[in-house]
Amino acid sequence: MNKKLSYLKVLFLCSILLTVTITGCIEEEQKPGEKELSAPEIQLDQPSILPNWKDGEYHDYYETTDELADFKVKYPDLVNVFSIGKSVLGKDIWCIRITNEKNTEVKASCLIDGCIHGDEWEAGEACLYLAEYLLINFDKNETVTNILNSSKVYIVPILNPDGRQANERFTDNGVDPNRNFDVFFGRLFRGHCYRLGKLLGRIKIPVIKFFSNDPFKYYWNCGRYAFSEPEIHAVRDLMKELNNHDFSFYVNCHTALHTVVMPWLSFKPPFEMTLREKKVFDYIVDWIRENTEYESFRGKGFEFKTGGNAMDWCFKEFRIPSFTFEILSLDYDPWKGTGKHDHLVHWMKTTLPFFMYLLVNIENFHNWETPDIQPPLPEGVPPQPLQ
Ligand SMILES: [Zn+2]
Repeated sequence: MNKKLSYLKVLFLCSILLTVTITGCIEEEQKPGEKELSAPEIQLDQPSILPNWKDGEYHDYYETTDELADFKVKYPDLVNVFSIGKSVLGKDIWCIRITNEKNTEVKASCLIDGCIHGDEWEAGEACLYLAEYLLINFDKNETVTNILNSSKVYIVPILNPDGRQANERFTDNGVDPNRNFDVFFGRLFRGHCYRLGKLLGRIKIPVIKFFSNDPFKYYWNCGRYAFSEPEIHAVRDLMKELNNHDFSFYVNCHTALHTVVMPWLSFKPPFEMTLREKKVFDYIVDWIRENTEYESFRGKGFEFKTGGNAMDWCFKEFRIPSFTFEILSLDYDPWKGTGKHDHLVHWMKTTLPFFMYLLVNIENFHNWETPDIQPPLPEGVPPQPLQ
């Protein structure tokens, strides 16, 4: 009897042990599975964050160069930094390519550049700000992560390094680089440009004002021939290269007309827009007016005053949406002497809606489809306009 009881006790204990072991195994098997499923989802739901910039902390050519090198060290799987050529005085023109390098699928590419006019600092700052915004939010925010998984974002923050260091609009040859492209190049009356370059290889005559204070009545030295300036030669070659990689849009950043402009010379034969292209541009004009503080229009007012510009050349050459983005407002145009470089963080925040709108719609742009995807934006963007 006692023996039988002991035998039953042992059997009972064994069955409990077996149950505990099996349950333990199941629990242990579930734990890692749960972690893999839930953690990345929670992480990717995070709202995007803004770069931690401070007012007054502008980046000249050398500080921009250091920032780009830092990005390469901090984000080796996302960043590639390379020189696209040299300025008149031999400074490297840096380009940063931002994409998830681990994803080797075919991706659309785009180009955003700044400081083609060296005294328009905020145009370069906006490029740097966007680069940092994308990098710090990758693998945390879903929108940014998707952008870098599916596209290659090429950014040239300072296209005119000599001009940036001299705080000058022109290249060191005294040429306006945004009149040096081969589209309605060097038209005196229909482009407000004269083909001069550096007179006798020594004398710079960058602008003729004819007693007028209105920059739209000035005449600009556009160089002796199209692409004479090494900076413009370099960005032309970069665009041609991108055209082999689903080049989908281009933004040429400036200050300070407070507007985003679409190609204007292209309204004229032989570069006229198709109805489909006009429809897409009109959609973008409306989107900008409704969702940013910037004005926007296509083909109004500038058409005979700015021959040889980057946006028109890119559009007529590659037939992709191309823009001139004039950051700041007329009240803060340091070049015209109204205001000074100020409110840096505010102006950077005003650029994000447009940049992010372009990036989330990159495939639509490539196919000339209606760009109707709305970009989610971080809190405080766009900011309230300055009073
Ligand atoms: Zn400009």
